[in-house]
Amino acid sequence: MTIFKKIIDKEIPTDILYEDDFCIAFNDINPQAPIHILIIPKKEIPQLSLSDDNDSELLGKLLIAANKIAEDHDTKDAFRIVINNGAKAGQSVFHLHLHLLAGRPLSWPPG
Ligand code: AMP
Repeated sequence: MTIFKKIIDKEIPTDILYEDDFCIAFNDINPQAPIHILIIPKKEIPQLSLSDDNDSELLGKLLIAANKIAEDHDTKDAFRIVINNGAKAGQSVFHLHLHLLAGRPLSWPPG
């Protein structure tokens, strides 16, 4: 079981910033920007590449949740969503998650 599943199950107490039927969101423990929020589906999908057509609605809901969370943090017009897919792409927790980054200039290309 991943640490994110334990957070979903409330086994690990975490300040939940947003929750709906599909997902929860909370602050990243090691923030890379003044705003760094993780948005994770309640369904256990290890990584984006293991999702399929049955997850279409869920994946859309995650992005819509990101919009709402950005708006809640007054950063609707300047944020970045990152999904690291696979260890070689920097994924360290194998429960699908969106990083929402904001609150500082975000350069491109990313590292
Ligand atoms: P990734 O490297 O894309 O898999 O992202 C995993 C993220 O989870 C990292 O940015 C970690 O800092 C973050 N993280 C790991 N454990 C926790 C935790 N208990 N609470 C909040 N964030 C965490």
